[in-house]
Amino acid sequence: MEISDELRSFEATGVYRLNVTGTGTGATFLDPVRLINGSYQRFRVIPSAYYSRSFEPPRQVGDPETEPPEKRRKRKRNQKSKPRELNAMERIAEARHQEVRHLLLSAHESLIKDKYLLERLSKMMEGKEHKLDVGSGSENNFVELGTSWRAPFYEITICFWKPHVLGHGEGSINARKTSFPLFNSIISVEAIDEAEGDFQNRHYILPRGSCFLMSDFERVRDLIPGSSNQGYNLIVVDPPWENGCVRQKEAYPTLPNRYLLYLPVQELAHPAGALLVLWITNREKLRMFVEKELLPSWGVKDPTVFYWLKVKHDGSLIGDLDLFHHRPYECLLLGYINVNTDAKQGSNFKLLEGPQVIMSVPGAHSRKPPLEKLLSEYIPGPKPPRCIELFARELFPGWTSWGNEPLHFQDSMYFSEK
Ligand code: SAM
Repeated sequence: MEISDELRSFEATGVYRLNVTGTGTGATFLDPVRLINGSYQRFRVIPSAYYSRSFEPPRQVGDPETEPPEKRRKRKRNQKSKPRELNAMERIAEARHQEVRHLLLSAHESLIKDKYLLERLSKMMEGKEHKLDVGSGSENNFVELGTSWRAPFYEITICFWKPHVLGHGEGSINARKTSFPLFNSIISVEAIDEAEGDFQNRHYILPRGSCFLMSDFERVRDLIPGSSNQGYNLIVVDPPWENGCVRQKEAYPTLPNRYLLYLPVQELAHPAGALLVLWITNREKLRMFVEKELLPSWGVKDPTVFYWLKVKHDGSLIGDLDLFHHRPYECLLLGYINVNTDAKQGSNFKLLEGPQVIMSVPGAHSRKPPLEKLLSEYIPGPKPPRCIELFARELFPGWTSWGNEPLHFQDSMYFSEK
């Protein structure tokens, strides 16, 4: 494929496949804003709202305005002391890093060499024209609201539009408004058009064919489909892992690892097969728990690892690749449920072939890039696949999203009308 064809396809889809020489491994650059916008008819995500992190003033190490006192003391202590030796677990993690380092560098090099893509990347921030209150704290805090005694009484009013009337100059807008309990109930949007919701003076954009359950962990079994052939073919899990990071504690509550053993992943999987994707952090102790206990308990064998390498708008990495506690990448473990992986190939899908590198500019803290397009050829079962995200903070067309704040990024402040 000519480079211009690949770029044209990138403009339309937000997915750009790169040639990584000498590694035999795939690398892909994703533009989450293009990916998300491809699925909306009447709205678009504002790039400067998605990439709000890039607009934050740079945090200066040692800046008394931005660095908490305890962190400052710890940093000074560390500066004085000699670099400490890694413990046994850290040495294993370092060895894993050394093993994948070449692959990550090669993938990154292929991005840096691609001047056409770099040019597009620098333009991705267009849309600054909107004054945003992203991060101002004016949005609803669903995590808090969901634990209040009032939670069972909160209702969201959803307006379902009839698109055949809209936009045909007939002057009348045909809409149906319905109220639903916001917490602990499964809410679905019809597949014809986006819907819009109102809750406590905030407005929400709901993609067509999306479905969500806003609840705490104890109601997660409500998601198990009544009939087994309604199971899911793509299951993405992005748990709130405990890792002691202060910024994460501010962003959302975490869960002890062992709770994850009670996620009903097998009951959610489609009998004709499911691809499971689990986001993990770089902590070795967590990796061992996941590989030895969690994935086997969900029926997943021999996971494949993908790496999400985070870059800035000039293509450079967001941080030093070799900094032990702040790697500029995260891992995803992928594996199959209800699929015979010993067979050479799946009946209507490709089996995962080995590690891959995904590159993108990160959005808000811990927000992951959308994966369905990138993974579509590896998803088993009927088409279009049925997809679910566990611990979601946003909705996608045709997906079910569960978590204690799945409407978080659906606030209208992230969108403008097309
Ligand atoms: N995948 C998301 C994204 O791309 O934006 C990020 C998910 S974040 C790592 C984990 C989510 O799990 C947070 O929204 C957090 O509030 C939620 N969470 C934490 N404890 C929970 C619980 N007990 N029940 C349900 N959700 C919970």
